[in-house]
Amino acid sequence: MDKKTVKDIEVKGKKVLVRVDFNVPRDKGKITDDTRIKAALPTINYLHEQGAKVILVTHLGRPKGNVMDEFRLDEVANRLGELIGKKVIKTPETVGEETKNVIDNMEDGDVILLENVRFNPGETKNDSEFTKELASLAEIYVNDAFGTAHRAHSSTTGVAEYLPAVAGFLLEKELRELSRAIDNPPKPYVAIIGGAKISDKIGVIENLVNKVDALIIGGGMANTFLKAKNYKIGKSLLEESKVQLATELIQKAKEKGVKLLTPIDAVVANSIEDRSEILNVSIDSIPSDKMVLDIGQDTIDLYTKSLEGAKLVFWNGPMGVFEVEEFSKGTKAIAQKVASLDAISIIGGGDSVAAVKQAGLDGNITHISTGGGASLEFLEGKELPGVKILNDK
Ligand code: ADP
Ligand code: MG
Repeated sequence: MDKKTVKDIEVKGKKVLVRVDFNVPRDKGKITDDTRIKAALPTINYLHEQGAKVILVTHLGRPKGNVMDEFRLDEVANRLGELIGKKVIKTPETVGEETKNVIDNMEDGDVILLENVRFNPGETKNDSEFTKELASLAEIYVNDAFGTAHRAHSSTTGVAEYLPAVAGFLLEKELRELSRAIDNPPKPYVAIIGGAKISDKIGVIENLVNKVDALIIGGGMANTFLKAKNYKIGKSLLEESKVQLATELIQKAKEKGVKLLTPIDAVVANSIEDRSEILNVSIDSIPSDKMVLDIGQDTIDLYTKSLEGAKLVFWNGPMGVFEVEEFSKGTKAIAQKVASLDAISIIGGGDSVAAVKQAGLDGNITHISTGGGASLEFLEGKELPGVKILNDK
C-alpha cells in the first residue's frame, strides 16, 4: 500500500486518535456480534504495546446529531475491555472539558473510548469547528474504520487535515484483500448482488458490468430487474425509480457480453410475517397478492451452476429474507456453493456476512470484509475519502 500505516510512525507516549468502526449489531442494548470490535484489536493492541495513549472514536447507529441513550457506547467499551483485558474508560461526551480531563490523566498504553461521535451534528457534515475540536484531542490520527472509509465525515477525513494521518492494520488488510478484485482480477469473475438496499447498490452493478464475466442478481434487488423485464411481481419489495436504470443495465450487460442472471422462479408468501401459504412459483406466475421472499429451487440450480469454475467471486447481499428459516434456503445454497469453490471469495455487507457465519462457512471464505458500502464503492473503482486523506509513504 502506498499509504503510511501505524508501523511507519513513532507513537510512544503520543496521544493517538483512532477511528474505529464499532457500529455493532445489538438486540435490546446487548451486543449480538462483536466481529467489528475484534477486527480492530490488532491496531489497538499494537498501539497499546507501543506505549501510545489510545483514544478510540466510533459511531453507533444513526442518532442523527442527537444525544440518545440507546446509542451510548458503554456496552461497547465494556466488551472491548474484556477483549483486551484492560479497563476501557468511556467519556461522557465525544469532545469537551470532561473528555480533555480524561485524556490529560491517561498514562502511556491506556485505551479510552470517546462517546458516540454521531451525537454531534458536526460529525456527518464534516463541520470545521467540530473537526478542530476532535483533532485537538490528539497528536496523531489513525484510520482503522474501513466500514466508514467511504464517508467524508469529521472523524473519517476531517481530522486528517490537522494531524499526521496513517492507516491501521484493518484498513490496510481490507485494501490489500479487496484489491485482488481490482488489479487483474482472476477470471472468470462472478459477482453476486442481492439484499434490500437497492438504490445504494444498483450503482455498483453499473460498474461491475465492466469488470465481471457474470452477474448474479437475487434478493430484493432482483425484483427491480424482474420488473424491468416486464414480469408481474405482486406485492414484492420494489424500487420503482430504479426500474429504468435496471433496464439500461440489462442492455449494457448484453452489449458487453456479460451474463446477467435474474431469478427464474421464486419462493413467495403473503408477507414475511404471514407464512400461512408459501409457494415456489415460476417467475411468470407470481400471484398478485404475494411477495417474493427468496429465490426458488430452479434459480438455486441455475446460480450454483453458473458459479462453477469461477476463480473470483464477490458477494454482497442475501438472496432472500434469510433471517426467516422458510426464506433462507437460497442464501444458504449460494453460501455453500461459494464456500466450496476453488476460487478467491470475497464477501461484504453486514447481512451477507451474518448469513455466511450463521451457516458456519466463514472459514472457507477468502476475505470477509467489515465494510458493506465501503467494499462496494472500492470495487466500483472509487477512491475512498477515508483512505485518500492518509499520508503517503
Ligand atoms: P448487506 O447487509 O449484506 O449489504 P442488505 O442490507 O442490502 O445486505 O440487505 C439485507 C436484507 O435484505 C435482509 O434483511 C433480507 O431480509 C433482505 N431481503 C433479501 N431479499 C429480500 C426480498 N426478496 N424482499 C425483502 N427483503 C429482502
Ligand atoms: Mg444490511
